[in-house]
Amino acid sequence: MYKPLQQFKREMKKNLKKYTTFMKGLPRRKVNGLISKVGRFHKEAYRDIDCGQCANCCKTMTPTYTKADVKRVAEHVGMTEKEYWKKYLVVDENKDIVHQKTPCHFLDKSNRCTIYAIRPADCRLYPHTQRKDFVYQRDIHIQNLEYCPITYHIVERLNEVVMEKKS
Ligand code: SF4
Ligand code: SF4
Repeated sequence: MYKPLQQFKREMKKNLKKYTTFMKGLPRRKVNGLISKVGRFHKEAYRDIDCGQCANCCKTMTPTYTKADVKRVAEHVGMTEKEYWKKYLVVDENKDIVHQKTPCHFLDKSNRCTIYAIRPADCRLYPHTQRKDFVYQRDIHIQNLEYCPITYHIVERLNEVVMEKKS
């Protein structure tokens, strides 16, 4: 079932520590069929959670741009790369190219991405829960637990089947 964002935030605050510890210890647990379980929960999450109603990633986080993203997006909005850099981008402490501010300047009032077809690759792949190296990306998932109801749902279900032996 779709959970309104406020409900997600309440549950997340209550369980964040528990799920963070669970995710940190996941590699040691050697879970049988982990990737197929994650795939099932990923599908469940996309069935029940409407990104169009949420848009929390676009409101509270910044995508990481590749150089190709900068070129494509700047061209699309009719700016030079230099102009786009000056107005919107910065290099962060991890040397990633990110937005200067949140929410994203391409998010409209109806929670729609106004450059959807040409958005940065990181936006297309977010929240990265479809990756086969799910366990090795756990630091990303731990970070996203606080922001993304889809990530939260997958980790919550995984915790249920591994720790509580539910199906
Ligand atoms: S470019 Fe589009 S998908 Fe990416 S953060 Fe901005 S609004 Fe969201
Ligand atoms: S990817 Fe996660 S945070 Fe982004 S809109 Fe979908 S559910 Fe919300």
